[in-house]
Order: sequence, then structure tokens, then C-alpha cells
Amino acid sequence: MYGTINITSDRALRIHTYTAPDDGWGVNSHIIELATQTIVIDAQYTLVYGRDVVDYANALGKPISRLYVTHYHPDHLLGAAAFPVPIHALAEVKKKIDLVGDRVAREEHEKFPETIPKHAEKPSLIVTPGRETIDGVKFDFMQLQHAETENALMIGFPEHGILVTQDLIYRGIHVFLGEQAFDTWLEALAHHQSLPYGKILPGHGAPGGPELYDGMRHYLTTARETLVASRDAADFKARMIAAFPAFGGHALLDHEMRFLFPNEEAKA
Ligand SMILES: [Zn+2]
Repeated sequence: MYGTINITSDRALRIHTYTAPDDGWGVNSHIIELATQTIVIDAQYTLVYGRDVVDYANALGKPISRLYVTHYHPDHLLGAAAFPVPIHALAEVKKKIDLVGDRVAREEHEKFPETIPKHAEKPSLIVTPGRETIDGVKFDFMQLQHAETENALMIGFPEHGILVTQDLIYRGIHVFLGEQAFDTWLEALAHHQSLPYGKILPGHGAPGGPELYDGMRHYLTTARETLVASRDAADFKARMIAAFPAFGGHALLDHEMRFLFPNEEAKA
């Protein structure tokens, strides 16, 4: 196996978090292990890591019944062809993937033709925000807006105090800042921190507790100041690496430059 596994458990619920290696941007797929089935949240960046998640889930001895894709970014979507089940997504996320998924796939395929497909898999099942009980476990589907991206799915397990935030929170990995919605993102952090969830499963990096909110707030406020102070893309990258020397995901810093410094496109 290429990735790293962390297990979060509470009574009958076990969640296996698969964290990709650094060339997979440290992105997480969460495998929700229920009594008779597993449910996977997010599909990885490459087919190799997507298959790795499928192999790990199959070894638990229960069928994968659903794949949820939380948002359209390549690291959560492009490994989906490795999964044997249709994709569930919020209506707005499905619309976005239908619109730009293939363009996103093409761009990343050019970087890694061996392991990233030319086309994006499209969601076929719509998630409605609200409660659903699956195999006796309550799921709380939430629609997060204007944080790391315009629309993203979060999943809470209210009876177990576990919250899958996906990219509301990253841990120990450089954060994709392309949409620059710093104010609403910080508000969303404060709002979710006030909810009764003690175990936080982020979109990148290992699970933790409420301290992950503070870490994320620190990263976002530092990045916002650094963005104002930086001369150009290279300067911003160097300053962020210096500010967070232990962080992985330098590829994310490169990925976001054309959004943060659009006038430097030619130089990049
Ligand atoms: Zn991500």
C-alpha cells in the first residue's frame, strides 16, 4: 500500500482514513465501515491511489456500496474510475463536474499521463443536505459554501462526535487558496468549531481534534498576509515554505499559482 491509514472509531462505527503520499497531495479518502458495507468519501488524485483505497476497503470483507465526491477539485475526483460504484454528490457539485470535470482531468492528465485519466467520472446520484440513517448509523450531510471552494459536502456522524470536514480543513499540507474566499472560509471554521464534534477528519493529512481548526485559521491568516506582501508567485511560494517548513504538498503551491497570480501565466 502506498498511503497511510489512521482509524477513528466510536462504538459500532469505524472510519479508516487513507492519506495519499506527497505526490498524491496528502489527500484523504475516508472509508466508513458499517455493519454490512463500506462507504468511501473522495476518490483520490490518481488511479493508482484510487485503486489502493479500493483494495484496502475490499480487504475489510464488506462491499463498497457508495462513493461520495465532496467537490470537483482534481485530488478528490480523478481517481473515481478505480471505484466499482456510482458517484454521489451535491447537486451543485454534480453541475460543476459536468461542466468542468473533463477540462480538469485533461490538465492533470498532461502532467501524469500514466496514472490520471483524460476524462472525469460524472456523479449520477444527488445528495440532499440533511439526515440519513445507513446500516443503523446516522449521517448528517451538510453543504459547505464559499470556503476552499464554492460548494462542498461535509459529513457529520452526530451520535459519534465525528465530523468529516474534507477541505474546510487541511493538516500539515499546503492549502489550495485559488478561490481566495478568506473571510467566508474563516467564518465557516468558526461556525463548525462551535458544533459538538470532537473528532475532526480533514481533507488532507491525519485526523485530529478541535486544534485542527486553530491550525487552519493560522495557515489562512498567514497566507492572506503573505499574499499581500509577496512580489510574485516565486516569492509567495518561498515565503509559504519558510513559514510552514514541515508542510508537505508543495505541488499544491504550484497548482494554485495561476489563480493567485493570473498575470504571470506566461512565466509559470
Ligand atoms: Zn483537496
